[in-house]
Amino acid sequence: MKTIYMDNAATSFPKAEGVGEAMADYINKGAFNVGRGGYEAAYLLSETVVETREMLLELFDAPYNTSLIFTQGATASINQFLKGLLCPGDHVITTSVEHNAVMRPLRYLESKGTEVTVVPCDGEGKLDTEDLEKAIKKNTKAVITTHASNVSGTLLPIGEIGEICRSRGIFYGVDAAQSAGVYPISMKEMKLDFVAFPGHKGLLGPQGIGGFAVRDELAEKLIPIFQGGTGSVSDSELQPEFLPDKFESGTLPLPGIMGLHKALLHLKKEGLEAKRHKEEALTTRFLAGLHNIPGIRVAGICDPQRIQERASVVSLDFLNYDNAFAAFDLEQDYGILTRVGLHCAPEAHRTLGTFPRGTVRFSFGPETTFEEIDFALRAIKNIAGR
Ligand code: PMP
Repeated sequence: MKTIYMDNAATSFPKAEGVGEAMADYINKGAFNVGRGGYEAAYLLSETVVETREMLLELFDAPYNTSLIFTQGATASINQFLKGLLCPGDHVITTSVEHNAVMRPLRYLESKGTEVTVVPCDGEGKLDTEDLEKAIKKNTKAVITTHASNVSGTLLPIGEIGEICRSRGIFYGVDAAQSAGVYPISMKEMKLDFVAFPGHKGLLGPQGIGGFAVRDELAEKLIPIFQGGTGSVSDSELQPEFLPDKFESGTLPLPGIMGLHKALLHLKKEGLEAKRHKEEALTTRFLAGLHNIPGIRVAGICDPQRIQERASVVSLDFLNYDNAFAAFDLEQDYGILTRVGLHCAPEAHRTLGTFPRGTVRFSFGPETTFEEIDFALRAIKNIAGR
C-alpha cells in the first residue's frame, strides 16, 4: 500500500529538492566551523551562512535595522522573545488559539509574576482585533500571536495587530511556525518586531534549524537566554552586545543551515505565490468534498469559498466514531498519515469546541496531489460511516 503523507503541519515531507544532498555534502566533504577556523574553507562556509540570513530577511521583507538569528526552531525563538523581554509586573497579551510553544513559556512567566491576558478567538478561531485592543493596559509590553493556527488553519490578522501595537509602543512577536515559506510576511508593512520560524515546515528544510528575525530596537532590549562562546571578542568573558552574536552562543547548527540554504534557493525558484496557490487549491477541494460527508465536523472555517482566511491545515471531528480510531484506520486501511489529538494546543481546542476529544488533522504540502485529496475524501467517507 502506498503511503500518503498528510501531516505537513508537524513537519514537511518531502523536503525541498537537494536539501538532503546539501547536508550530506557538508558533513562528508568539509564539516568545518564558522567564526572559529582561520582558513579558506571556513570563510567560504560563512558566506553561505550570511547568504542564508539574507534570504530569510528578504523573505520576511525585513526593514533595514533587522537581524536574523539562528536557533533550533520556533519554540527556541519564542522562548527567547518572551523570556528575554518580560519581567515580573509586565503585561503580555496573546490569543486562545496558541500552540504550547507560546503558552508554556507564558504560563512559566506568569508563575514568576508576569501578567498574561489570553484574548478569546471565536468558534472558527478568528480574532477580533478590537478585543485585543481592549486588553491593552498601561504595563502591556508585548503581544504575541500565531499567524496560522496549527489546529484549524485559521489565519490571524497580523497586519492589523502590528498596526495597533506599533501605534501603542508595544512589541509584537509573531509565531510563523505554520506560515513561514507559504504566506507572505512583511515585517515592514505589517509592522512586526519579531518573527519566529522553524526551518522544517513550510520552508521545506530540515529539523533542528529555525530562527527569528528581530528589529534591532527590540533586540537591544532582549536579554539572551544563553551566554557562551561566539568566536568573537574572545578576550572578554562578557557576552557581546552586537548582533547576531548576542543570541548565538555555541557552534551553529551548520548541517541544518546548509539544508535550509538549499530549501530557500528552491523556494526562490518555485515562488511563494505558486506554492501557496497550490496548497489553497488542494485545501479548497478537500473542504468542498467534506461538505458532502455526513458524520464529520470541520473544526474552524469549513466554507471552501473562504480559503483566503485559512491555511492548509484541516482538523476533523468524527461525530460517531472515536477520532483516534479514525486516524488509526486511515493509516492501516488507506496508508494515510495524519495527526490525532490536541496538537499541543489545548486552549485552541476549547475555542473550537473539540476539547478534550481532539481532532484528526490533515495538512497538505506542495507535493500533495489532487488524487490524494480525492482518495482521502473517500477514506473519510467510509470511516465516518462505520
Ligand atoms: N507554533 C506552532 C503554531 C506550531 O505549529 C509549532 C510546531 N508544531 C510550533 C510553534 C513549534 O515549532 P518547533 O517544533 O519547530 O519549535
